[in-house]
Amino acid sequence: MKAVLKKERAVGFVIEDVPMPSIGDDEILVKVEVASICGTDVHIYDWNEWAQNRISPPLIVGHEFAGVVVDKGKEVKRVNIGDFVSAETHIYCNHCDMCLMNHREVCRNLKILGVDTNGAFAEYVSIPERVAWVNPKEIPHRFTSIQEPLGNAVDTVLAEDVSGKTVLVTGAGPIGLLAIGVARVFGATKIIASDLSNYHLELAKKMGADVVINPKEQNLREVVLSETHGLGVDVALEMSGAKSALHDALALTKFLGRVSLLGLFDNGVEINLTDDVIFKKLRIYGITGRRIFETWQIVSDLLASRRLDVSPVITHEFKLEEVEKGIQLMKTHQSGKILLHP
Ligand code: NAD
Repeated sequence: MKAVLKKERAVGFVIEDVPMPSIGDDEILVKVEVASICGTDVHIYDWNEWAQNRISPPLIVGHEFAGVVVDKGKEVKRVNIGDFVSAETHIYCNHCDMCLMNHREVCRNLKILGVDTNGAFAEYVSIPERVAWVNPKEIPHRFTSIQEPLGNAVDTVLAEDVSGKTVLVTGAGPIGLLAIGVARVFGATKIIASDLSNYHLELAKKMGADVVINPKEQNLREVVLSETHGLGVDVALEMSGAKSALHDALALTKFLGRVSLLGLFDNGVEINLTDDVIFKKLRIYGITGRRIFETWQIVSDLLASRRLDVSPVITHEFKLEEVEKGIQLMKTHQSGKILLHP
């Protein structure tokens, strides 16, 4: 089968014919219909420091996908041949204390599809049955691979109720854009989005942001304060991984407000805990992955019910062989989610 490989410890991917994946007794074989590129795939392509320490080539990359189950191991019970599935990409162990307490998103023995195991930028992928999510028929197939990042967005937004709240989203990359849509559906009264890319800010408007700000062109703090009666926002969602954006998010959240942190920072960040967090009595949530499978149910219902329209976020669709084009496009910040079709 055709697959996108990190073949060597160097920049780039190669597309090659590789043997079909085998399946274990508790695994299913999926014929991939649609996949999408995540920032992690770009890091693996670029062979950055994180990738060098984590990835062992040769590896089939890619983890956001959906497709049809074409074979299953003899212990597989819940999933059937012919089901159209997506996958929780965090392959949890189901044995550690966190899994036993139903917090699989922080499994201590987590393996990530397309990072620690062969992934889905291929014609076929095998996954354990336990991470398969059977998609409801109502969800258009081209929305099914982005449920994984949509789950990140749902958990970031819904760490607490947002109805009747003002919300600042710092970072309108694909996940920030999805978060804007989710905050809208769940009743935020004003959504302010910041990003350094005007292309992303245009998409933010389409997803329901009321105010968009490019901090390179406008004074973010002045605009947010003037939009919130000088008080700051009720809720800040940090979705950029930029230190300055984190400082903005903390400073612009009002007293007794809530901050959810999804963006990942390259190094440690210094913050003024005393003034920006403690004296304001902020509540701060670290968000990782998705709740398995509570969040998947919400994500699926949002898409199946058409309450949430994610179509503005999907800006490009390429053939799997054009993955390089997609990666280069993502680096220009002139795209939203990019789909790949084997
Ligand atoms: P992305 O890199 O595509 O988007 C980040 C956005 O932030 C970009 O649009 C960029 O222009 C913008 N940005 C950069 N500096 C900014 C600043 N100073 N102010 C405002 N915006 C700024 O990433 P993504 O795929 O949308 O993911 C969002 C973040 O979440 C990333 O940091 C990613 O690593 C992280 N992430 C975390 C988890 C988790 O489980 N915690 C999972 C997936 C992704």
